[in-house]
Amino acid sequence: MEHLKDTFKHKGRRRQLIEELAQMGIQDQRILSAFDAIPRHYFLDLAFDEQAYTNMAFQIGSGQTISHPYTVAYQTELLQLEKSMRVLEIGTGSGFQTCILCKLGVKVFSIERHQPLHNKAKRMIDFFGFNASLFFGDGYKGNRVYAPYDRILVTCGAPDIPEVLLEQLKIGGLMVIPVGEGAEQKMLRIHKTSDTTFTSEEFGTFKFVPMLERTVK
Ligand code: SAH
Repeated sequence: MEHLKDTFKHKGRRRQLIEELAQMGIQDQRILSAFDAIPRHYFLDLAFDEQAYTNMAFQIGSGQTISHPYTVAYQTELLQLEKSMRVLEIGTGSGFQTCILCKLGVKVFSIERHQPLHNKAKRMIDFFGFNASLFFGDGYKGNRVYAPYDRILVTCGAPDIPEVLLEQLKIGGLMVIPVGEGAEQKMLRIHKTSDTTFTSEEFGTFKFVPMLERTVK
């Protein structure tokens, strides 16, 4: 990773993106600062270097994409994070969102079903020196070992709300999950009010790559 360089140009473009995110309604200063601290171009192929700070998704291999910066910021805001919370992320992908969460001082457990993406994201976490736990596995199963979680973040489009994930959420906890069968999903925030009761809020339409079962080597 020695080739990772954060130039004056990158920094300038990043500031512009942060400005854009603020104009789009991201208000939490801690989240905007985290975007400044984690260079997004580090997570992308050199081919996308020039565009890394536009509000776009890019291919990251294994047929997957890094989420739009706005989507990452928006999902993060919906999580209402507090320091030291335990957060389970489904869909590590590039690891960019994982690093944003780490920067906000939470303990992240993240699952990815594609082995090459998992391996690469792990290297990124090490590069930044974050203390996150990354797993190669099927997010549909969650991760019982470290449950329950204060927050669960799903970064792929789920056809429905996985029961197992609800079980692994703390009472009083929140899960942010895009839910929908087709190309588009509704962003839901589920609040677990007791072992068996939940309330749900809806936050607009998004486009994620699908949440699929089983792992891919
Ligand atoms: N936060 C990531 C999003 C990547 S796209 C980023 O910004 O880079 C969503 C990711 O979810 C993909 O990498 C995909 O492989 C993964 N995914 C899909 N279904 C999954 C499952 N059942 N378990 C774990 N990861 C899954």
